[in-house]
This record gives sequence, structure tokens and C-alpha cells, in this order.
Amino acid sequence: MERRYLIRTFGCQMNEHDSERIAGVLTADGMTPAHTPDDARVIVLNTCAIRENADNKLYGNLGHLKPLKERRPDLKIVVAGCLAQKDQAEIQRKAPWVDVVVGTHALPQLLELIDRSETDGPQMDIREHTEVFPTALPAVRNDTFRAWVSIAPGCDNGCTFCIVPLVRGPQRSRAIGDILAEVQGLAARGVVEVTLLGQNVNTYGRDVTVPGSSRTPLFARLLREVDAVERLRRIRFTSPHPHDFTPDVIDAMAACEKVCEHIHFPLQSGSDRVLQLMRRSYRRERYLEWLARIRAAVPDVAVSTDIIVGFPGETEEDFLGTLDVVERARFDSAYTFQYSPRPGTRAATMPDHVAADVVQERFDRLVALQNRITLERNQAQVGTTVEVLVEGAGKKGGSTQARTRGNRIVHLEHGLEPGTFVDVRVTGAAAHHLVGEAVGASAPLRV
Ligand code: SAM
Ligand code: SF4
Repeated sequence: MERRYLIRTFGCQMNEHDSERIAGVLTADGMTPAHTPDDARVIVLNTCAIRENADNKLYGNLGHLKPLKERRPDLKIVVAGCLAQKDQAEIQRKAPWVDVVVGTHALPQLLELIDRSETDGPQMDIREHTEVFPTALPAVRNDTFRAWVSIAPGCDNGCTFCIVPLVRGPQRSRAIGDILAEVQGLAARGVVEVTLLGQNVNTYGRDVTVPGSSRTPLFARLLREVDAVERLRRIRFTSPHPHDFTPDVIDAMAACEKVCEHIHFPLQSGSDRVLQLMRRSYRRERYLEWLARIRAAVPDVAVSTDIIVGFPGETEEDFLGTLDVVERARFDSAYTFQYSPRPGTRAATMPDHVAADVVQERFDRLVALQNRITLERNQAQVGTTVEVLVEGAGKKGGSTQARTRGNRIVHLEHGLEPGTFVDVRVTGAAAHHLVGEAVGASAPLRV
């Protein structure tokens, strides 16, 4: 049987990007992509641990794979990513048919672990520290014209609800020259848009500045240097922490032509009491002030956010504070989450967990409010002409999907070439997308 691999990815962009590295490693070993589990020799589940339903999903998927492994003992089942780091030996205890468990710091060991499992049985590598950045591995990227670029894996914050620092470790910034070399290489191969990835991008560099110096973050400088890369047209980044969104970063955003007018600015809660319990170091008024400052410096900037409903001890009054900030902030979009207790986090042991029906009812109110605001924000775009990057076929047959610099999805009638820029007149708006018609090829940026 030809050696083929199948990768299933759960979770955030960091995991999506790790999967591109996993594909790169398997391809370098001579393997090719499979279309179904049946024709795969290696199946990798790249997992997420952010909420409890991610755990259930992993064990559900492993249950489905068991009969396949019994039929084909030569099949290699690999569990990678954040849940691998979190559950460790538990995975092979619950699912002994798993051949390899590879943690977030051990991706460079993947091939060796698969090989060793052939002769020595189930393998696991859950080392605690990154010795080789996954970015040193080859990548098979999903797109030819857009790319994720990891700048600083890990996180030094201790938000009390969050498992990320436990499974991804402390922040480890890549050298600026290393990142630039990657971006230049991508641009030379036709990539026109990069998204700089980190858990807390705006503290990029704090851990690599000269020891004993002021340990100043280098994110603003990185933005300016990436902006100077020839042939690149768009730069995005995610996620910044509101606390670290310093004036130099705002200035760089405003000055850099290629940096898109979009920020993901995670609020989490609009109650100062809950923010304190979450150990988020800003407060609601300060958050809104920062937002106003960013909007003044970067006109028409689109803003998305993350909000958690039902954090332990959240009262109706706290929740009304969240609705109030949402009303005042007028986000273009929001990722809304119901709080999920994660083992090892401070919040999981806090008192007064909110009843599931109360969380659901608050969640529904929040989603209804945000949907109204998103629609109003989208309707305000009707009649404008915007530059879009064509991404490919839309989910509904016949339409093409494209994206504005503000990260809004636009559905177009024409079958336009993915990876091209087009100017579009916005003719309609729905809750989650705009409708537009092409009015001409967009002029290239000054490079
Ligand atoms: N580093 C990013 C930040 O600080 O905004 C977020 C990383 S996390 C992958 C994405 C989002 O998941 C968080 O912003 C938060 O809203 C949500 N999240 C994290 N832990 C959660 C939990 N225990 N329950 C519900 N949502 C959670
Ligand atoms: Fe988690 Fe907070 Fe770090 Fe974001 S900043 S990854 S929410 S600990």
C-alpha cells in the first residue's frame, strides 16, 4: 500500500499551522496525502484542549478509529497537539490502539516516534520545553497565496481560565531575522498575505531582548520590518492582548501600509470584578479607551473579540456589564464561548460555578446582541468600494469567496482566480458576510 497520511486538525490557527508542519515532515519522508481514513497509512489527530468538548471529541474520534486499527494493524494512529500534552499517558491508557502521542514541544521527533512504534510498540514524547521550533520543520501549506507565520509560541500570562500556558509552555520568541527570512521566502514564492501568530503577539521579543536590558517587546519593529518585504500585500496578526497594545504598536499599525485594518482584541468580560478574577490586567473603561485610541489612529479598523460567558461567580449584573461593553464597543464580530473548567487552571477550583441553563440563557442574549451589531456594521459597508483578496469557491455553489482588509467575507458572483486582488462594490450585507460585485483589478501597493 502506498504510504499516505491523513491529518485531522482541531482548534486554533496555531494548531492549523502545526498541522502544516506535520504534513511537511510526513511529505519529506516520502508520504502523500490520503483522502479517507481507509487509504491512510498514518492518521494524525492534532488536538485542542481549550474547552472540555475538545476532550470528548478526541476520545470519540479514537473510538471510531479502533475497528479500522483492528482490521489494519499496520495503520499508525498519532495523537498530537495540546490534548496530547495535557493527557499524556492517559491517552494510551484509554485507547491502547494509539501508536504515538507527541506533545507540543516534540514535533521534530515525530518520524522517529512513528518508526520506533513499528518495532517497540506504543511511543510517547511529552517533553516540557521547545528545543527546536516547529518552524524549523518543512511545511506543506494549504494555500499558495496566504500563510501563517508563527512568531512566538507559548504564553507568559496566567489568565485563570486558560490551559494554554500549561500545554504550550512559556512564550518563546523566534529571532527577528529568522521570521523575516521566512516571510521573504514566502513572498518570493507568491504569498501575498501573512498572518503573524502568537498567543500574545504584542509581547513578541520580550523574552529575547538582551538580558538585563529593558526587555522591551519588539512587535512594533517586527511589523515595520515585515511591512518592508517586497511583493507582500497584506499583513495580519493574532492575538494581541489588550494590556500590551502599546502606543508604538498603534503607530506601527497606522504607518505600515500592508498591515490590514483589523484587530482581534479579546475582551473576555465587561465586568471589572470578573476581569480581576480572570487575571486580565485591564479594566472595562481602559479597554474602551484603548479601542477608541486605535480607532482614531487607524480609521475604519474592524474589530473582532473573544468573550467568555459564565465564568465562575459571574452574576447577572456582571453579565449586564458585558452586554454594555459589547453595545458600546460595537465589535464587527465576536467569538463567544461558554466557560469550560480546565484541569490545572485556577478558575476550575473557584467557587460558584454558574448553572448550565443560566449560562446558556446569557449566551443566547449575548449572541443575539452581537448578531444585531455585526449586521449593522456590515450594512454600513453597503455602497463602499473595497479591495478584496479572492480566496476560492464559496460554500454555496456558484459564488466566489473573498476577504476585505477588515477581514470581512465577501461573496461575489464571478468565478475569479484565487490569490488575486479585485476592487469590489459592496451591494448587500448579511449577518456573516457581504455581497459584492467586481469593479476592476485593484492597483498594487507601492513596494
Ligand atoms: N491568547 C489569546 C488571548 O489572550 O486572547 C486567546 C487564546 S485562546 C486559544 C482563544 C479563546 O478561547 C480565548 O480568548 C478565550 O475567550 C477562550 N477560552 C480560553 N479558555 C477558555 C475556557 N476555559 N472556557 C471557555 N473559553 C475559553
Ligand atoms: Fe490564555 Fe491568557 Fe495566554 Fe491568551 S493570554 S493564551 S487567554 S493565558
